[in-house]
Amino acid sequence: MVSFDPPTVKRRSFLAGVGSLGTLGTLRYATREPSTEVEVRFWLTEQASTYDIADLLAAHLEAALEYEFWDVDVSFGGVVPVDSEDGARPVLSGRWPMAVGSGATGIGSIDAAKDVNLLVTDGPMHTSPTGYAIPHVASVGGARHIAELEPPDQEADELPYSRPNLTIQVVIHEVGHTLGLRHEHGRTYVVNKATVSTPMMSAYAWDSSFESEKSRCGQEYTPPPHPDRKLTHRFSLCAESTLREYKGGVNLR
Ligand SMILES: [Zn+2]
Repeated sequence: MVSFDPPTVKRRSFLAGVGSLGTLGTLRYATREPSTEVEVRFWLTEQASTYDIADLLAAHLEAALEYEFWDVDVSFGGVVPVDSEDGARPVLSGRWPMAVGSGATGIGSIDAAKDVNLLVTDGPMHTSPTGYAIPHVASVGGARHIAELEPPDQEADELPYSRPNLTIQVVIHEVGHTLGLRHEHGRTYVVNKATVSTPMMSAYAWDSSFESEKSRCGQEYTPPPHPDRKLTHRFSLCAESTLREYKGGVNLR
């Protein structure tokens, strides 16, 4: 759950740093259109691959990212050996970003995807951190809980706060980070006297250490009015508005 959020980089200072070659770069940057296609690939560790989850995981990722403004291409990249099943360690240690990076440059064996490169382990989901993300690259634990999920087309919009539902929400949360979303793109809302948390807010809705006062879209955060907890696997409208502007590359806003 605890994830790396890239430091805020002011666009102006970034462009100032581009230097004498900046003019072309700036023009190209300024005129790039939002992506009409998002390419997502996931890999499983050997232990995670002992569960029959590839189709289920693909279906949930497709459902979470399904919007009219882009086509989603989700694929299974294969099985990756790791020295620990801990959900966060592959990214924290730098090994998974390195493997994805060397694959992207044609050196390694990983066939990197353009937008999201997700490694799913069988790490425990009851101790933090359960996953970790940097732009375009993430790792998350919980394969055994994903195996217990219903297919997304059999899910309601609001779901019980169960280990499987929370695990796939954490997967979606980390994928959100890889595409430039922050915790402040998340929100809670109330349905039938239950407080529902969206993927970028996730369990932080009930965590007193969560300090932000308002969302990126200006919604004031208040303590959850109802103790009953529910989850949704759909991003908030605030998150959607940022995904709509996603241009690929590292999101600097
Ligand atoms: Zn996070």
